Amino acid sequence: MSSIDLKATQSPHILVLGMGGTIAGLAGEPDSKPLQYQSGQVGVEGLLKQVQAAVPGELKLVSVQLANVDSRNLSELLLTQLGNAVKAALDNVAVQGIVITHGTDTIEETGMFLQATCGKAAETLGKRVVLTGAMLPSNAPGADGPNNLLGAIRWASTPLENCPGGIYSVFAGKVCMAKDLAKRHSTALNAPLMDSPASPIGLINPSWLFGVKAVEAAWSEDLPIPQEGEWPCVDILTSHAGARAETITHYLGTKVDGLVLAGSGMGGFHDAWKAPLEDAMSRGIALVRTSRTGAGLVLADIPEKDQFGCMASGSLSAARARIALQLALNAAKQANLVGKPLTWQDFFARIADLPEIR
Ligand code: ASP
Repeated sequence: MSSIDLKATQSPHILVLGMGGTIAGLAGEPDSKPLQYQSGQVGVEGLLKQVQAAVPGELKLVSVQLANVDSRNLSELLLTQLGNAVKAALDNVAVQGIVITHGTDTIEETGMFLQATCGKAAETLGKRVVLTGAMLPSNAPGADGPNNLLGAIRWASTPLENCPGGIYSVFAGKVCMAKDLAKRHSTALNAPLMDSPASPIGLINPSWLFGVKAVEAAWSEDLPIPQEGEWPCVDILTSHAGARAETITHYLGTKVDGLVLAGSGMGGFHDAWKAPLEDAMSRGIALVRTSRTGAGLVLADIPEKDQFGCMASGSLSAARARIALQLALNAAKQANLVGKPLTWQDFFARIADLPEIR
């Protein structure tokens, strides 16, 4: 039997951090209305009890409840707390690996955040950080949470010879890099990674593993975790038929530091936005162009030449690009404070240019 301790322990263990989500959700009428439920109702200790019998006896698990929220309400403060907890756990020699139970609505933001702030540390310290969750609440018939949690624990404790340390995610028997998460379906059980390059957990796909190593080789240094009060203010705006200049001008009167534009097609936006966006750039507001299509790349200077102050997102979705821009703005600010003349574009490019896994 594995033992589940609630207090931090000095003996080797897998740390399970609870953030909430559907995996910890409860439906009022699970048999007839399983999708009518509330996220974040069951504690992480309770989730572990559900799977305890199937956890290999030699594995010791320690759980810590960081939050228990519906991840549509994820806040920057929670990201700071999670990032600080992951960093501390990576530095703790007793922690062999880290599993995070999380809501799927914004799991891609958290995946991007952890890759950019803890990815190098996880790789060099040889530990896996594994995000998981569920699409069905914990009391629904056929709930997917227990299997996902077991898969994540298994991946967090798989020998390193099979695959390096890093930031991963496990759903429906598959593993992907957490930076590639993208929820692409409202209800499918594999929604968070259905369009992400992934491998079965049990039989690692060699070409996927090759891609993971290429990404890790290209990621040379983690960005700082913004602490409370340091997060830049960045919003996402979607271009569409009939877009209005006022959508942009509204923001010019606020304390916004950056805007992510979810453009049409290759990341272009409505002509009505041109003049106000030029105004935004002249005020130092950082712009990133992404595509609202949900797939494919957004490349620099396509369809039109980008001005200084506006960058293409590469493969980043709008949600991931927003986190990347916030981290880049903060990293540039911290660098400038110690006399390094680096820009947000320098840091954003490091994230957007990471190799694509096929
Ligand atoms: N609304 C839920 C959440 O993100 C959805 C889920 O976990 O699947 O917390």
